[in-house]
Amino acid sequence: MPSYEFTCHDCGAPYEARLSMSAYAAGEGRRCPACNSTNVERQFTAVSVLTGGRSGSGASSSRCGGGSGFT
Ligand SMILES: [Zn+2]
Repeated sequence: MPSYEFTCHDCGAPYEARLSMSAYAAGEGRRCPACNSTNVERQFTAVSVLTGGRSGSGASSSRCGGGSGFT
């Protein structure tokens, strides 16, 4: 089941909802769990979707934008 990341525009809190594609298509999960607002926007960040790949590999990929020194 894929995870969808949302950000609430009312309180600014990001949250993640695990929805089936049919549930997402039906509009489920688009409600902030913090303030119960539906004024949310989906974020297309790199969410680790469990697609059968290995999770938690020992070698952390530090070459693909580690975060530090990104000016
Ligand atoms: Zn909110």
